[in-house]
Amino acid sequence: MVKEFDYDLVVVGAGPAGSSAAYAAAKNGCNVALIEKEKVVAETVRTSGVTWIDYCKEFGIPEDCYNPIRSYKFCSPKNTASISEEIPKAAVLNVRKTYRFLAEQAKESGVDIFLDTTVNDIIKTNENISGVKANSNNEELLFHSKMVIDASGFGSVVVKSLGKVEQWERFGVGAEYEVDVEHVDSDSWWLMVGQMYSPAGYAWIFPVSKNRVRIGVGVGKPESEIDPTKRLDEMIKNKLGPIKDLGKLSNKEFHYGLIPNEGLTRKTVYDNLILVGDSAGMANPLVLEGIRYAIKYGRLAGNISATALHTGNTSEKFLERYEQVWKKEIDAKINSAHKVQKRWLNLTDDDWDKEITIISELTSDEFLDFIRADFSISKIIKLATHHPKLAVRQLFNIVRGG
Ligand SMILES: Cc1cc2nc3c(=O)[nH]c(=O)nc-3n(C[C@H](O)[C@H](O)[C@H](O)COP(=O)(O)OP(=O)(O)OC[C@H]3O[C@@H](n4cnc5c(N)ncnc54)[C@H](O)[C@@H]3O)c2cc1C
Repeated sequence: MVKEFDYDLVVVGAGPAGSSAAYAAAKNGCNVALIEKEKVVAETVRTSGVTWIDYCKEFGIPEDCYNPIRSYKFCSPKNTASISEEIPKAAVLNVRKTYRFLAEQAKESGVDIFLDTTVNDIIKTNENISGVKANSNNEELLFHSKMVIDASGFGSVVVKSLGKVEQWERFGVGAEYEVDVEHVDSDSWWLMVGQMYSPAGYAWIFPVSKNRVRIGVGVGKPESEIDPTKRLDEMIKNKLGPIKDLGKLSNKEFHYGLIPNEGLTRKTVYDNLILVGDSAGMANPLVLEGIRYAIKYGRLAGNISATALHTGNTSEKFLERYEQVWKKEIDAKINSAHKVQKRWLNLTDDDWDKEITIISELTSDEFLDFIRADFSISKIIKLATHHPKLAVRQLFNIVRGG
C-alpha cells in the first residue's frame, strides 16, 4: 500500500539546516513537510556543538541550550597558550535540546514532521524533481511537491539521487566521548594540535557543564589514514596533555560524524531544488564548524523558497538569488580560511609550537575573528600591515594571499 502526500515544499533532514528552512517557509505561508529518518530529532549526535553566542541570540536559541565559553586554550606538544575575555563569546551547545528547539519552532509554525521516515529516491516530472520517495515501517510514501530542499547533511541524498553530485572526496571525520569528569573549568575550552593528537586536524575538550565535557579528535581525509576513534581511545588511555587534569572520567556517550571539507564547490540550486547546510558543503574549514551557517542559510533557503512558490517560479534561474546571497556573505571568508588550513596541514610539531605563540599574540577579538573565519578584506589588510607583531603580520599576509 503506497501513501501519497501533496506539499508546496518538502524538506529532507531535520538537522539545524532542515528545521530552519522548514520553519522559515511555513512562517511565510507555505505548506511544508519535514522528513527525518531518525525516530526522534537528534537521536544521534554527530557534532561537538561549538558555536557563538551572538549567533545564538540572533537565532533566538534559549540560553539554557548552551554553556558559555570565555577562555580559549591551546596546546601543541611543547607549548600552551590561553586567550581570555570577560564576556563569553563562544558556546558549547546542548545539541539535542537545540536541534529539538529548532524542530519544535518549525512544528509550531505549521510544518508536518515525519519521523522514522527515510528518503531513498526522488520523484521526477519532465527531468525535474517534483518530490521524494520514502520508506517508513516498511510502508512506501510518496511526497509530491513543487519544491524540495536537500538538508540531509553529508550524505546529500536528494541531489545524489538526481545524479548531480558524487560523494565528497575531502572531508573531516570526528570521534568524541561525552564524559563526566572530576575537575573542569566549565568556561574554558582546549584545542590540541600536533602529531600526537591528530596528524591532519586537531583534538578538543569542550565543556558542556560544570562536570561534563566532550573530548574528541578530528582527522582530515584523504590527508591522513588515522582512525579517529582509535586515536581518541589512545589519548584517553594515556591521559595526554590537558586530559590528565580532568581526573577520573566516566563514559557517557560516543559521537561520530563526517563533515565535508571541499570549500564552496557545489552548485546549490537546480530547478525546484535547493541545497543547504552540509549538503551544500557550508562549513568553516578552520575548525569544521557549520551549525550557524546551517541555521542562517536554512532560514534563507526557506524564505526564498516561499517567495518562489508564491510567485509560481521555482526555476533554477529564480533560485539563483539564494546562492548569490550566501556566497556574497561567506565565499571569500571560506577561501581565506582554506589558505590557513593548507598552512596548518603542513606544520610539523616544532612549527606548531611556534604557531601557538603567534596565535597567543592575537587579542581576543582578533582571535575570535580568526577562528570563526570572519575575515573581511579590510580586517585582513589591517592585521597584515599594521599589527604590532611581525609574526601576526606574516600570518595574515598568508590569509590575504600575499
Ligand atoms: C565530529 C564533528 C564535530 C563537529 N563539530 C562542530 C562544532 O563544534 N560546531 C559546528 O558548528 N559544527 C560542527 N560540526 C559540523 C556540524 O555538525 C554540521 O555542519 C551541521 O550539523 C550541519 O547541519 P545540517 O542540518 O546540514 O546536517 P545534519 O546535522 O547532518 O542533519 C541532517 C539530517 O538529515 C537526516 N537525514 C539524512 N539522510 C536522510 C534520509 N535519507 N532521509 C531522511 N532524513 C535523513 C539526518 O538524520 C539528520 O538529522 C561537526 C561535525 C562533525 C562530523
